[in-house]
Amino acid sequence: MTRPPAGQPAGSVGRVIAIDGPAGAGKSTLSRALARHLGLQRLDTGAMYRAVAWGAIARGVDPADHQAVASLARTMSINVGDRVTADGTDITEAIRAPDVNRAVSVVAANRDVRATMVARQRQWVVDHRGGVVEGRDIGSVVFPDADLKIYLTASGEERARRRSEEGPARLARRDHLDSTRAASPLEVAEGAKIIDTTGRSSEAVVEEVLTWL
Ligand code: C5P
Repeated sequence: MTRPPAGQPAGSVGRVIAIDGPAGAGKSTLSRALARHLGLQRLDTGAMYRAVAWGAIARGVDPADHQAVASLARTMSINVGDRVTADGTDITEAIRAPDVNRAVSVVAANRDVRATMVARQRQWVVDHRGGVVEGRDIGSVVFPDADLKIYLTASGEERARRRSEEGPARLARRDHLDSTRAASPLEVAEGAKIIDTTGRSSEAVVEEVLTWL
């Protein structure tokens, strides 16, 4: 069982599976399958940062304006489930648009935005009594005591193919920003199991992960 993170409400938070890795590594496919197998809910934390980026664009706020975006993140109500809503508006498709792809890594490098999102992610897990949580800093920062930490990766060519709508140059730029930022960069968390999904079917990856549980 995962202990509640410091400063969070007491009581067991249930089983937590942390999945991190760069864009196109296969996190969403794996986290969906694991959640189904384990009877847990899934949280896509990337959708939360995307929602904040969408909110900044929609309000004409510069994604690089630290204070304005941090305050927007604090006040926006974001709900991530089968659909994604922000202050009641369904933005499920809008957060996958090219302008959000371009802005999201800048927004996610903002320490104050991260502090707000991390607190909400921890609360989400308490409220759902555990979960499969995917992102970039889940095993390293958000849930360092997770029951299982997985770092998924795949070759640059394969990830670019899986995210062809974004384009290889933009994808590489986003990955570079995510792994070199000062605040909670993408990295392999201590104790994480690394899986390279290049050339592997999602079923094979899920099967391997299930043997670890
Ligand atoms: O997972 P996805 O590619 O949708 O994430 C979008 C962006 O959100 C990432 O490129 C990264 O900048 C940010 N992100 C993050 N930390 C997380 C999840 C996503 O910084 N835990």
